Amino acid sequence: MALTLSTKAQAVKPSSTLSITAKAKELKEKGIDVVGFGAGEPDFNTPENICEAAIEAINQGFTKYTPASGTLELKKAVCDKFYNFNGLQYNPDQIVISNGGKHSLTNIFQAILNPGDEVIIPVPYWLSYPEIVKLADGVPVFVRAEKEQDYKVTAEQIDAACTSNTKALIINSPNNPSGMIYTREELEAIAEVVVKRDIYVVSDEIYENLIYGDNKPVSIASLGEEIYKRTITCSGLAKSYSMTGWRIGYTASSKEIAKVMGSVQSHQTSNPNSIAQKAALEALTGPQASVKEMNKEFNARREYMYERISNMKYISALKPQGAFYLFVDIHEILEKEYKGSTIKDANHLAKILIEDFNVAVIPCTDFGFSDHIRLSYAISLEQIKKGLDRIEEFTNQLV
Ligand code: GLU
Repeated sequence: MALTLSTKAQAVKPSSTLSITAKAKELKEKGIDVVGFGAGEPDFNTPENICEAAIEAINQGFTKYTPASGTLELKKAVCDKFYNFNGLQYNPDQIVISNGGKHSLTNIFQAILNPGDEVIIPVPYWLSYPEIVKLADGVPVFVRAEKEQDYKVTAEQIDAACTSNTKALIINSPNNPSGMIYTREELEAIAEVVVKRDIYVVSDEIYENLIYGDNKPVSIASLGEEIYKRTITCSGLAKSYSMTGWRIGYTASSKEIAKVMGSVQSHQTSNPNSIAQKAALEALTGPQASVKEMNKEFNARREYMYERISNMKYISALKPQGAFYLFVDIHEILEKEYKGSTIKDANHLAKILIEDFNVAVIPCTDFGFSDHIRLSYAISLEQIKKGLDRIEEFTNQLV
């Protein structure tokens, strides 16, 4: 047997959101004044009460293994969150606490997929979905949502994409990268298809606390008994509580699926980090004022950024309703010339912006849209202003 590597693992593309962010941080450390519109990582410190709960956990020796699928107290707090915030009733044996949102998604697809099962992924999508599905031997099936449909797929499109191999659909609302939110009516129509086709829906609600204006979050699982049975909701603490590095995510599903996920997790990570679980408990049960404060700030940045982008030449975006991204349509730029040559795609544009203008953006090729880029507004207003000035300087140089 030759010293080969796993074909499946080698086929995985590294996460470009993380690599671009790392590159921007590296340049900053070298003293280069880079503005990083990269990863969706809030610039706020984790709220103090949450940090203190973690310190307390360490001081009290809460540093050993916990139950594989998480502590009962944290599962109860997650159940209360679902009840109070989403109008959903779950028992602790339906909850699995994991090491972050990505890990929850990994658990879900490990638990439900058999080789060759198809998973419908609406485009644009967060770049990790297809890779996580493929790692669980599933086959991603992409369904494109155009700008004219607010980047949201319709129930008819989902229905048309279903085959006898379809196992699940992923819904991500508020959406990364588009910032769009599905309305109750849209979700009701999608739920009807999911029930009719008898498939699962994986509802990624990680941005549910980051919603602006009159928009309301709706959990698809709350739309009836039949859809509740088929929904696996996943979320995490990273975005709402500025806890990206702590790595705590969770799922709510049927007891049967939770049991399988718990068993898988018991062999993969033993348990989610004990200290981070105590911090997560404080995040969910402690004062929520910091969440509101952060939201207010994100909203101000959203308004500013949308306004500026709307007034720039050759680029445009829909006003995001949630999350903290602006999904910028650059197709007109692709018809222009910069320094004597045309710009090929979003990757090429991102390269020019970082190399010539010290601005890091996410090209959305890996999100299914090679004529869009994503700008995160999880950075300070001052940085946003500086970065947008530079992007404007670039658009003004196009001929
Ligand atoms: N989910 C965030 C993003 O899309 C964090 C980076 C990542 O995990 O992809 O930027």
